[in-house]
Amino acid sequence: MTDRKDELAGNLAKVEERIAAACAAAGRAREEVTLVVVTKTHPANDVRILSELGVRHVAENRDQDAAPKAAECSDLPLTWHFVGQLQTNKVRSVVGYADFVQSVDRAKLVTALSKEAVRAGREVGCLLQVALDAGASGRGERGGVAPGGVEELADLVARAPGLRLDGLMTVAPLSGTYAGRELAAFERLMDLSTDLRRAHPAANMVSAGMSADLEQAVAAGATHVRVGTAVLGVRPRLG
Ligand SMILES: *Cc1c(COP(=O)(O)O)cnc(C)c1O
Repeated sequence: MTDRKDELAGNLAKVEERIAAACAAAGRAREEVTLVVVTKTHPANDVRILSELGVRHVAENRDQDAAPKAAECSDLPLTWHFVGQLQTNKVRSVVGYADFVQSVDRAKLVTALSKEAVRAGREVGCLLQVALDAGASGRGERGGVAPGGVEELADLVARAPGLRLDGLMTVAPLSGTYAGRELAAFERLMDLSTDLRRAHPAANMVSAGMSADLEQAVAAGATHVRVGTAVLGVRPRLG
């Protein structure tokens, strides 16, 4: 337990240094970037330790794991982000603990989120997940709406009771024109964010960058980086 706390403290310090250096290199203030620690596959006790170490934002990608973890940690001053592909039959559960859903990518999901948010008397912050590798289907391999579908989906979220349109999220594509070009991918997301903010000025969150590419995300202008492995170590199983 103490060992784990030391390990997480050391990892957090390294990630903090990387974010600070990336901000400095980009001429940005450190406060412009929020660290969201992705705790998926790691136990609730790690979340508790992270909270003791000052982490305030955590993210999960599977409701089956996240729901009990969030319940166990409900006494902690944490903001919960949902970042995984979300089936509509899980929406009621997710709305019970998630402050933000970063993976909003289709109209049907917006309808379900709105209905459950209203039912729960909550306001859920929504980020549209953009698939920069979206093919002809208009959807990304790992979920996400194609860039051309952002405007329509954004308008839908903005009009939906119980939901707040907060911005955009992406995962750097592993294939397609942006494969291996994380900075270019994140710059494209920033351009889409600029377009979005013309119609929705308050939707200014830009969530991009993970353990391997947080520097490129900060350089491009991301407001939120989602870091798992670099803080918690290699995941016990695929998540
Ligand atoms: C797992 C995950 C992360 C964190 O990835 P790491 O490489 O472990 O930092 C970030 N975003 C999403 C959507 C994830 O599923």
